[in-house]
Amino acid sequence: MIADKLRQVHERVARACTQAARPVQSVTLLVVSKTFGADAVRAAVAAGEHRFGENYVLEGVAKIAALADLRDRLEWHLIGPLQSNKTRIVAGQFDWVHTVDRLKIAQRLSEQRPAHLPPLQLCLQVNISGEASKSGLRPGDVPAVAQAVAALPRVTLRGLMAIPEPAQDFAAQRAPHRALHGLLQELRARGLGLDTLSMGMSADLEAAVMEGATIVRVGSAIFGARATPG
Ligand SMILES: *Cc1c(COP(=O)(O)O)cnc(C)c1O
Repeated sequence: MIADKLRQVHERVARACTQAARPVQSVTLLVVSKTFGADAVRAAVAAGEHRFGENYVLEGVAKIAALADLRDRLEWHLIGPLQSNKTRIVAGQFDWVHTVDRLKIAQRLSEQRPAHLPPLQLCLQVNISGEASKSGLRPGDVPAVAQAVAALPRVTLRGLMAIPEPAQDFAAQRAPHRALHGLLQELRARGLGLDTLSMGMSADLEAAVMEGATIVRVGSAIFGARATPG
């Protein structure tokens, strides 16, 4: 079942890549396992996946522990909000954080990243649709924060992440993804070596791939609807 859903999602990504004249290997699937148990992750691993996204720090850490036997083969990405009081546990347990929305969080992650681990991989979360309620940096604040984060020693700034406002038609879905890509290009023009655009979910991954997504974060299209919100 999970294997079938994964095949369908990979087909969607491949079709979108063809449409966009992009190589299929240029887009990575991040399997969003939030609210689903360790056995669901194991089923996805059995089907060939090894990158997983979690929203809630403590849920993620519990799942990482439950899957400790697979730790060397898996990559764990935090894709939910991160408060200062949780940076140490995240710096010690995760491989990526997509949701850095202020310099202070990145500074703490850099200070707290254990010396025996490779640098923590970071994306800056951008409030690309300009919604008052959503977290993320304002686009105008991104260049200064990016320069400062890129200079930190124990983290590697990889790129940008966004959760655009849901939209029904394809053109409306593409617009915020295009804006995020434009912002990434602006940062590259300033000399930052960034390679990651984390954007696109179950409902809009085609629009995101059309606009240059390199990581799509997909949950419900693989595991089904979540019982609890998230
Ligand atoms: C839950 C979540 C996803 C996955 O959403 P689906 O619609 O289930 O694919 C992706 N990114 C973030 C930040 C999420 O919170």
